[in-house]
Amino acid sequence: LPLIAVCGRPNVGKSTLFNRLTGSRRSIVGDEPGITRDRIYGEIEWAGRDARIVDTGGVVPDDEALIPSEIFRQAQVALEEADSIVMVVDGRTELASPDMELARLLLRGGKPVFLAVNKMDTEAMQSQAENFRRLGFRNVLAISAEHGSGIGDLLDEVFASLPPEEVDEE
Ligand code: GDP
Repeated sequence: LPLIAVCGRPNVGKSTLFNRLTGSRRSIVGDEPGITRDRIYGEIEWAGRDARIVDTGGVVPDDEALIPSEIFRQAQVALEEADSIVMVVDGRTELASPDMELARLLLRGGKPVFLAVNKMDTEAMQSQAENFRRLGFRNVLAISAEHGSGIGDLLDEVFASLPPEEVDEE
């Protein structure tokens, strides 16, 4: 199945988005024993098509303790293994330099990338998402992972970017 990766700084709402997209079908995978910073994989179906999705945010309860280099390591892994990448930012906060560095890394990666400006819970807030165009993404979508708005549009675009489905000739 094609793989969609969700990247971003701690507390922007990656796991809220992941949970909304996957429901309960998920599995926790760590690539190095003893390292608590793991990725979580789940499955998602949209418009009759299945994909896997990975939350690079991991399972550490206190995400604040993460060092930025770990966010970038996870982004590198996403660039290697994913077909399409969603970077999540918190639309209620100012753009910070880790966002810009992460955006640069992802935009250089050559994979389809989407910027989800999260926590845009009301229609009035959604115009704020435009401020984040500075990050350089062509595809910028205002979403509320908590309330569900904008999620359908995001999935339409992300699924359209996935490689064509393999047709079984038999
Ligand atoms: P992660 O560290 O990136 O995985 O972020 P979480 O999913 O744990 O979310 C961090 C905080 O943001 C939590 O308190 C969430 O309830 C909150 N949050 C996530 N999505 C939204 C949203 O769409 N709107 C609002 N208002 N809060 C959100």
